[in-house]
Amino acid sequence: MASLSEEEQQARETIRYLVAASRSVPGGALASAREDWRAQLAWWGSQGYHGVTLPPEWGGQGKSFLVQTMVVEALAEADANLALLYEVHNTLHLEAVWRYGDEAQRRRWLPDLLAGRRLGGFAVTEEEAGSDAESLATVAVPEGGGYRLSGVKRMITGAGWYDQYVVFARVPEAGITAFVVEADTPGVGFGSPEPMLGLDSTPVADITFEGAWIPEDHRLGELGQGYAIALDLLDGGRVGIAAQAVGILAACLGRSLAFAQQRRQFGRPIARYQGIQWMLAEMATDFAAARLLTYEAARRRPEGERQRPLYAMAKWFASRKAVQHALNAIQIHGGRGYLRKTGVEHLLRDSKVTELYEGTSEILRLVIASRLLNGYNWDSI
Ligand SMILES: Cc1cc2nc3c(=O)[nH]c(=O)nc-3n(C[C@H](O)[C@H](O)[C@H](O)COP(=O)(O)OP(=O)(O)OC[C@H]3O[C@@H](n4cnc5c(N)ncnc54)[C@H](O)[C@@H]3O)c2cc1C
Repeated sequence: MASLSEEEQQARETIRYLVAASRSVPGGALASAREDWRAQLAWWGSQGYHGVTLPPEWGGQGKSFLVQTMVVEALAEADANLALLYEVHNTLHLEAVWRYGDEAQRRRWLPDLLAGRRLGGFAVTEEEAGSDAESLATVAVPEGGGYRLSGVKRMITGAGWYDQYVVFARVPEAGITAFVVEADTPGVGFGSPEPMLGLDSTPVADITFEGAWIPEDHRLGELGQGYAIALDLLDGGRVGIAAQAVGILAACLGRSLAFAQQRRQFGRPIARYQGIQWMLAEMATDFAAARLLTYEAARRRPEGERQRPLYAMAKWFASRKAVQHALNAIQIHGGRGYLRKTGVEHLLRDSKVTELYEGTSEILRLVIASRLLNGYNWDSI
């Protein structure tokens, strides 16, 4: 795409090459067992693609956030499950340690996170704290040079599968605070993976803390800074989910174009009929718009919360279009589109959740509108 610099274009070529090469690694043939995703993510680590934005002296590639975004997009075009597990590990967990960890914490956790030897999740949601995350009730009570953690986190991606989690809990009199909690900490338990509409091979479950003791040096950032940390990480996360949706859109378009030219009815390929052409044209246009908006949001990630409405716009637009065109992709495939074996119906099931997690479409519009009404410079986009 014309808007990419030469370096970004090269990065995209490399990522595409790696996605193709990753097919020889277990899990690379799609719709795989959960254990295969470990091999996949370790392989991406061995290629230097975890923490690509970190400077080389810390083991990263010093690349832009756009490059990380393009990895999520390329993975999602192949498989939205793997894209999500990569996105959460990189954008929400590894970035948390990098942006908010002190020198000792970075040295302790980053090498394994970068290599993909350890993988990390992000746990904020609770029974009564979904969109209203600030009302979370998990508590971390200071005790013996650390904190006793009690509460339940709901619907956590990779719960029981990732090795460690950034967990948000309320410290009495200090407020919401972020902690790194390792999965094997006594008092930490995991529910069974939830059967879901889509993302069939992504484990999503509850995490229970029953008086789990977390040492002081596992606290990320300042006491009471946790909510601001969560919002900052979710800014990047929303761009990541927008990229997941763009990848799904690319899959819809690629599959639909190929099928429409090959499938013949009434003596000619269905691509010759205007009804099909209009769907393809709209799909391609929305794909281009979603990708451009997502790339622009990724480029502006260093501007932080000043561009929060832009990150929200990218996710809202791309996720809505992914759902709309996953439906169209099924329509273009006719009855075959409804059959599991055709491998198109899952695009609809996988796309729906992009309108829900990391900020529902309603919350994203609230974010956009409230900033617009409070002086956001929309002309800066
Ligand atoms: C597959 C999956 C993976 C997930 N992974 C994680 C994870 O890794 N970590 C994590 O912390 N969480 C995770 N979540 C949770 C997810 O972030 C929440 O589901 C999401 O934030 C919405 O919260 P909720 O489900 O409680 O919905 P609610 O907040 O209860 O919302 C219900 C409905 O009300 C609407 N609504 C709420 N408030 C308003 C308002 N003020 N104005 C207008 N409408 C409103 C919402 O938009 C929605 O339509 C995951 C969820 C799923 C499904």
